Amino acid sequence: MNYKIAVIPGDGIGPEVVEQTIRVLDKIGSIYGHTFEYSKYLAGGCAIDATGEPLPEETVEGCRNSNAVLLGAVGGPKWDTLPGDKRPEKALLGLRGKLGLYANLRTAVLNKELKDACPLRPEIVGDGIDIMVVRELTGGIYFGERGIRENGKMGPEAFDTETYSVGEVERIARIAFDIALKRNRKVTSVDKANILESSRLWREVVERVSKDYPNVSLEHMYVDNASMQLVRNPNQFDVIVTTNMFGDILSDEASMITGSIGMLPSASLGEGSFGLYEPVHGSAPDIEGQDKANPIATILSAAMMLKYTLNLPKEAKAIELAVDRVLEEGYRTGDIMSPGKTLVGTTKMGELIVSFIE
Ligand code: NAD
Repeated sequence: MNYKIAVIPGDGIGPEVVEQTIRVLDKIGSIYGHTFEYSKYLAGGCAIDATGEPLPEETVEGCRNSNAVLLGAVGGPKWDTLPGDKRPEKALLGLRGKLGLYANLRTAVLNKELKDACPLRPEIVGDGIDIMVVRELTGGIYFGERGIRENGKMGPEAFDTETYSVGEVERIARIAFDIALKRNRKVTSVDKANILESSRLWREVVERVSKDYPNVSLEHMYVDNASMQLVRNPNQFDVIVTTNMFGDILSDEASMITGSIGMLPSASLGEGSFGLYEPVHGSAPDIEGQDKANPIATILSAAMMLKYTLNLPKEAKAIELAVDRVLEEGYRTGDIMSPGKTLVGTTKMGELIVSFIE
């Protein structure tokens, strides 16, 4: 098969980690008989430098005409003093909005080889951690009605509104259940239904959708409890599905318990399996151009692309196994280095993963 991938290398270490990821995809293509056709586009700081805009229309059009988008990272100190709507990060919000990406998937995986990086006690971690947080991305309090009232109860007051419609909850719930089917078949829906009306609707709709997935177990959890359970017993979770704001907070908590930001992939999905795939980390300007960046988060993002957009689970697994193998053999970039292991740079890490793909 032939797949069109829009590639947005971005700024800082973005181009370095994307370059290694393309090598990995090419190896997958050659083994499994696929052609990945890449078209490169500008977004972020490099786009501001070239066109004056963080997200040129050509980039959005290019993404729309592709099967999936692979993004490195955007931003850096050079553009930090620009006004809000001209900053590189504006490109990310713009892409999500314009491409209709309403579901954010972030895995928090602690590979058993990297257990030492985890801030939790070994008996809590067990054999490793593997959680998927599915966050609603285009609704809720970040997009609800907001404003300032001069005559509030105790002087001028500000307000933001959490709003969710049945359709919005239904589509994100379906994504969570579909993913759980490909994993360990458990969904934890996180809300605050003891207080919030929007959470009661959320819970009701998730419950209804779950009837279509008899092989997936569903539990509901209040957000305060969920934030506690994530550090108390992370292995009770398989897929967590939650609102925009709760997901923003819980996905950061979940990724931080793995202790290795250079390892974590993410996906943002829209209608019809279209998706944008990127590492959780930023552009890491402090190590830009030094062959120090860990490319694994981006390489695993490409594995998610194969699994969730291109429906190539075997090929995705081949990448994941190659990453496991590289870690088992003791190769480490600086961010995950520990005594007795072999330190390698970005390029060498990419090469090793390519060589371990079978
Ligand atoms: P960051 O994730 O870029 O870096 C945080 C720390 O982690 C740094 O010490 C960095 O060297 C290290 N790190 C990150 N990724 C790494 C990797 N792959 N390998 C090895 N080490 C890695 O976060 P930050 O420093 O807060 O932000 C830097 C810039 O990135 C800012 O301009 C910020 O706005 C932007 N940013 C972009 C995205 C994105 O594009 N999605 C996300 C977060 C931050």
